[in-house]
Order: sequence, then C-alpha cells, then structure tokens
Amino acid sequence: METFLKKLAVFPVILLYTAICLTSGAAVLCSCTGSNGNSTAQTSAISTDTIRTVAVCADSLYAHVEKQVALGPRTPGSTSHDRCVALVAGYMNSCGVDTTMVQSAPVVTFKGEKFTANNIFSQINPAADNRVLLIAHYDTRPWADSDPDEAMHSTPIDGANDGASGVAVLMEVARVLAHELPDSLGVDLLFADMEDSGESGGDDTETTWCLGTQEWVKQMPYTAKNRPRFGILLDMVGGKDALFHREYFSQRHASPVVDKVWSIARRSGFGDRFVNKAGGAVVDDHLFINRAGIPCIDIIESINEQTGSFNPTWHTMSDNLSAIDRNSLHAAAQTVVNTILN
Ligand SMILES: [Zn+2]
Repeated sequence: METFLKKLAVFPVILLYTAICLTSGAAVLCSCTGSNGNSTAQTSAISTDTIRTVAVCADSLYAHVEKQVALGPRTPGSTSHDRCVALVAGYMNSCGVDTTMVQSAPVVTFKGEKFTANNIFSQINPAADNRVLLIAHYDTRPWADSDPDEAMHSTPIDGANDGASGVAVLMEVARVLAHELPDSLGVDLLFADMEDSGESGGDDTETTWCLGTQEWVKQMPYTAKNRPRFGILLDMVGGKDALFHREYFSQRHASPVVDKVWSIARRSGFGDRFVNKAGGAVVDDHLFINRAGIPCIDIIESINEQTGSFNPTWHTMSDNLSAIDRNSLHAAAQTVVNTILN
C-alpha cells in the first residue's frame, strides 16, 4: 500500500495507503424487530417528503459483528474461516435473498502460501437490470503487524472492525431489503475473501491485497445490460465515533457516487459522520471493482482524529469487540439502505 503513497505524493490530497478488511456475520438480537432475517416487523417501507427509508437495527448490526468475532480470527485456511463462510451463506439463505453462491479460486499470497479464496455472492432480484453492488471482506488479517507490542506481530487479530463491521452491514442490509425492493431493482452482495493477507510496505505491493476480489472480477456474472450502476464497499465502519471522509480513489473513479452517498447521509441525519472533505487513499477491494468497470466507492474511516489515518486499532490486537461502536455501524448501514432506495 505504500506504493500508492509514493505515486500519490504528487496529488494535493491526504493519503493513506494500506489495505483494509472486514469480516463476516452473525445473527440478530434486535430490539427493533425479530431475528435472523425472518423478521419483517420493522421492514415496512416508510416514505417521507424527502427520503424513502427502511430502518436498520443497531442491535442487529452489533450482533452480526459479535457472532463473527466469536468464531475466532477468520484467517485463510483456518477452521474459523470455514465457519464464517457457513455463517454468512447460511444467514443469506435464511434472510430471504434470492440466490447465494460461493465462488472459489486458487490464490497465492505474497509469502508464497497457497489458499482457495471463497467469495460469497448473493443476489436480490437477480432478473433486474438496474443493480447496485455492495462489497465487504470477511477474512481477517493473520498478523497483528501494526501492534505496538512487537511480540504480537505474528498473532492473528479478532478483526471486529477490520472485517466483521462491513460484513455486518451487508447482512443487515440484506435482511431489511430482501423483501422490500421493487422487482425492477436488484442488489448484489459480495462477501470477499483474502483481502487482508497483503504485504504492508515496499514497492508494487498493491496486488498482494484483495486477492478474492481480484478473482471475482474475472468471473463477474454480468452483461453490459445488467452490470451494476455503482458499487459501495464498506470497510472498518464500526470504530468509536467513526468519521467517513471522501476516500481518494472513490473520488477519483466514482465521484458522482460519492456525491450521492454523502448527500443521502446528510439528508438521513448522518452529516456529522459523513464528512464532506477529502479522505485518505486506500488500496482496498473497490480499486479492483473500479478497474473492472463498475464505479465503486469505499466507505471507510481513513482520517481518525487520533492517528490521522485508520482507526488506532487497525492491524492490532485491540481490533476486538470492545472497540465496536454500534452507532457507527448504524450510520453506515442506514446510509447504504437509503442510498439504494432513493
Ligand atoms: Zn486490514
């Protein structure tokens, strides 16, 4: 990811670099409604004068994170990783989406380790040509290589924020929209694998990240007609008091989408969270989606007040459940739902 730091140093923007992650899902203990996608109690669409919305549930979002973290680190090749695939795919089937499949492809990490990347892909209204793509990665970083304690640098992280938070948003969005979309509007959900086993530092390391998405774009199930109008990646959206700035590559490749999402966030009452200012430049799954021809943005905490970049828990042992803010999850998830509906 430092590659981009150097390349982008010529631009008058604030840059970050690195790759990020997200994880997978859990069930729902929702004070707002029922559980596990079977509930429809709160999902009746509401129209106001200005914006159409269906309410997401913060408790449900938090529970999705909690269940993923309870599996243990979802590192490639681990039993916890396999269980996470079962958790997410099972949840998708139970919450009412129309189709769910797992796309598998062999990948090799920058360390030369061979794995099978398993991308989980669900569709709501698969016959609709008018589509939106949502993405989050469910694997977690195998090493806490940014932990202040060097002794921890080979230990896997919980990935509550870097992994689980984005997956939780996709699961909740699926739950509330599965039965609420008009037939003419389709939503695709990609739970990408192998995002976070990349090389931190060094030149030309960009393609060592996001291995699952790089494979997925080779086999995208789209024609020119039904290719999604835009994509939204969610990564590290669960940090305490997280602020979401306009990420650099999102702005560069998909600025109308950034405009739309930040405008919807403001109209939805989350203008304090979605800051209308330039964010960092992050090598993340959206980069490869953009290169495949789908304008795609990244909702991510890239200018943390403490660090000036990612959340302080990033790639550390502190990326655990205690660092998760259900209000941050709520702001991100509700903004995505409202963007799709308006
Ligand atoms: Zn990461």
